[in-house]
Amino acid sequence: MNCKVGVAWGEELLDYSFPFPHPFRRDRAIEFYQELSNFAEDLAESIIAVKPEQASVEEVLLFHEAGYVDFVRRRSEEGRGYLDYGDTPAFKGCYEASLYVVGATLKLVKLILAGEIDHGFNPVGGLHHAKKGSAAGFCIFNDAAIAIEYLLKRVGLPEVLYVDIDAHHGDGVFYGFYGDGRVKILDVHQDGRTLYPGTGFPHERGAGNAVGTKLNITLLPGSGVEEFKEAWREMAEEFLAGSKPDFIILQAGADGLAGDPLTGLNYTEEVHSFVASRLHELAHERCRGKILALGGGGYNVLNVARAWTAVVKALANRS
Ligand SMILES: [Zn+2]
Ligand SMILES: [Zn+2]
Repeated sequence: MNCKVGVAWGEELLDYSFPFPHPFRRDRAIEFYQELSNFAEDLAESIIAVKPEQASVEEVLLFHEAGYVDFVRRRSEEGRGYLDYGDTPAFKGCYEASLYVVGATLKLVKLILAGEIDHGFNPVGGLHHAKKGSAAGFCIFNDAAIAIEYLLKRVGLPEVLYVDIDAHHGDGVFYGFYGDGRVKILDVHQDGRTLYPGTGFPHERGAGNAVGTKLNITLLPGSGVEEFKEAWREMAEEFLAGSKPDFIILQAGADGLAGDPLTGLNYTEEVHSFVASRLHELAHERCRGKILALGGGGYNVLNVARAWTAVVKALANRS
């Protein structure tokens, strides 16, 4: 049985691209669109291209501070300097490009809620490091966190499940909702003692009455498909069994694949197929199929194309 997957698809998203030689550039999404097009015949009935639209400032303010949003707009006009301490350079138009990334993620959320698509994927979304008041780690506006706030505040959903398999800890989302029990977070990543941003340890389980609603699973450098699956079966399944999500967001960063220039993990895209299939099934069991996937990191473009295509296929095919 096929499900309908909306894929955010458009030039507007390619403009979220830092100047060469920065590793986060437009060729990542271009390579993914190319790879997905190779399966156009198989997936023709399942994929719907969704044109990106800009988010409104009010939507960005669901998570970010007004002063920070103004700061990004000014730096974007000037087109120089950094938005953080040296990882995330400003470029001309970075404000508008960021609004398109957030807007594409929110448009997919709205289409899923309206029942016009079953699931969604935004290859340039998943900017999980951005904080309420600052950019971080190539991430300007945190589309994932904004989508979560939108689902809680605007739609009034009781519970959102956020799963993050990027090689880096999704600190912007994780600490952004650390004390909020409505947001269940499962984050599998390379041990923070060995990789940016240096956070995300197993003892961090949430604060106040949100204790137990967060779970970090850390993997040592060199971990491959088997180590990932073993950790998932031992820890993630129990955590998922205790969640009653009304919406699921998967950040499917591709930088855990062997050959990524920035990390030390050793997966293949089998991890992405495995996780996306499992969460797809869970979404149909628990929340009438409401799941959105976001691209996130990944700096070897061939890996990125394969991993994200695997995610889209897993959401399109229901066994
Ligand atoms: Zn489905
Ligand atoms: Zn990453």
